[in-house]
Amino acid sequence: MKVLIVGLTGGIVSGKSTVARMFRQLGADIIDADNIARAIVQPGEKAWKNIVHYFGKEILKDNQEINRKELARIVFADKEKLEKLNKITHPEIVAIIKNKIEEMRSKDSSDGTICIIEVPLLFEANLEGMMDKIIVVYLNREEQIKRLLIRNSLTQEEAINRIDSQIPMEKKLKKADYVIDNGASLGHTRIQVKQIWQELRQLLARST
Ligand code: ATP
Repeated sequence: MKVLIVGLTGGIVSGKSTVARMFRQLGADIIDADNIARAIVQPGEKAWKNIVHYFGKEILKDNQEINRKELARIVFADKEKLEKLNKITHPEIVAIIKNKIEEMRSKDSSDGTICIIEVPLLFEANLEGMMDKIIVVYLNREEQIKRLLIRNSLTQEEAINRIDSQIPMEKKLKKADYVIDNGASLGHTRIQVKQIWQELRQLLARST
């Protein structure tokens, strides 16, 4: 039984999904916390009910799904509401991730499995202890604001609010076992991913 559980995190828009995709191409299993976050707020689910109870029916689209864009706009402008939303969703997301990790660890994988768990709020949700290693995808603040403005068509102020709602990047870097700088080309990022992949494979080979 050889499984290496690797947490992949970073800041908003720093390139976590891009990096996870590169690891998948190299052979990693990927668990994406964003998918879990989406699943638990499907109409009728417990978190969906709690969100509608707290934020009101105005937060729903015609098909009863939560309007995630609108919800994000509301909570990133109001810290208390963000905390409330996190209280509704985080415990459930964390429990599902924990289960998935336990499942991975109990699997018999003689040639070794590297499982990358992509979790935007890994540190915010205190998940460090569950990981064998942690990778932080780093993006300098200037570029982060630039990419966020392009992707989400926000105002400069909204973009900065979202970035500042997370633990500062510098603190995340200090807790990382590996750092990937995604501030340059994708080719540059891929080289770093390959290097870390080799190191992880070696780690796995040495473990029993
Ligand atoms: P979030 O958690 O905020 O959804 P993320 O950290 O998973 O985002 P990605 O979705 O991988 O980040 O990338 C964010 C955006 O930046 C995407 O539009 C992606 O195409 C772009 N991007 C990623 N890496 C680079 C790069 N090296 N150069 C330019 N653009 C990039």
